[in-house]
Amino acid sequence: LQEIRGLIFNIQKFSLQDGPGIRTTIFMKGCPLRCKWCSNPESWNAYPEVWDFPMKCVGCGKCQEACPREAIYVDDIVRRIDRSRCTTSMECVKVCTSGGKEQVGKYVSIEETVKEIEKDVPFYKNSGGGVTFSGGEPLLQWEFVQQVLRQCKEKGIHTALDTCGHVPWSAFEEVLDYVDLVLYDIKFMDPAMHKEGTGVSNELILANLVKVAKRMRTWLRVPIIPGYNDSKSNIESIAKLGAELKVEKISLLPYHGWGEQKYDRLGLDYLYKGTAAPPEEMLQEFKGIIESYGLTVSIGS
Ligand code: SF4
Ligand code: SF4
Repeated sequence: LQEIRGLIFNIQKFSLQDGPGIRTTIFMKGCPLRCKWCSNPESWNAYPEVWDFPMKCVGCGKCQEACPREAIYVDDIVRRIDRSRCTTSMECVKVCTSGGKEQVGKYVSIEETVKEIEKDVPFYKNSGGGVTFSGGEPLLQWEFVQQVLRQCKEKGIHTALDTCGHVPWSAFEEVLDYVDLVLYDIKFMDPAMHKEGTGVSNELILANLVKVAKRMRTWLRVPIIPGYNDSKSNIESIAKLGAELKVEKISLLPYHGWGEQKYDRLGLDYLYKGTAAPPEEMLQEFKGIIESYGLTVSIGS
């Protein structure tokens, strides 16, 4: 029997943003959405990739020589990877000794992941925390996630699942028995606008949400993206849905530009360059709208 392995791009310790208490967040690589403002573009593709750090490159040209696909060009001024030629063989990463090229994304075993999560049990105990699976979309790798969650539950560790919801319902069915809390991302109630910002419509997402909220403790997470979904009418419709579904909380997650450098590292264009975070008054106003529906709201977590 082949061992199931998970493709992750980060394990964040001591996270206070991904559910109650102090948490260990496992970021799974691979996502069905392409949100234009995404702060983790390295989560998109479901395979390891080359991170490019031109500032650390000393121009030795070893990566260019090593690349079997002639995808790299290096001279005194220009350092470039042609991603359309790259097959992610990582030969360049292996020969680079200055940190100019690194690999993002690695395969891990169920056992080592559980061990890593277990290391922080004392912090979970004192704070009411636990483990959160995030991404990317964890349910694209439901077999791995299911196994890790099951073992965490056996060890009495609180478990949360952060999902974009755009997966077949069968994937939810496989894992929900081992989940204590679902953090469900909602961006836009209008299907066309949802598609405009994320690349997919929201029908499947909303249909899954109704089933999840009936069965589970659910928090909605709403990123507030300037000029996209930051209208009172959108917030109002999300609040209405949250009240209907009796969700436990709505978290407003204000846009930030921290992911910008990651786009450079992957050779991608960042469309939100120079965009400011939403003003505090706007967030407070949205909070008020949601509270008027009798719901609990938090900003930033
Ligand atoms: S091997 Fe590393 S340091 Fe040398 S040119 Fe390539 S990226 Fe730069
Ligand atoms: S990962 Fe492989 S194919 Fe891609 S640039 Fe590096 S050496 Fe070339």
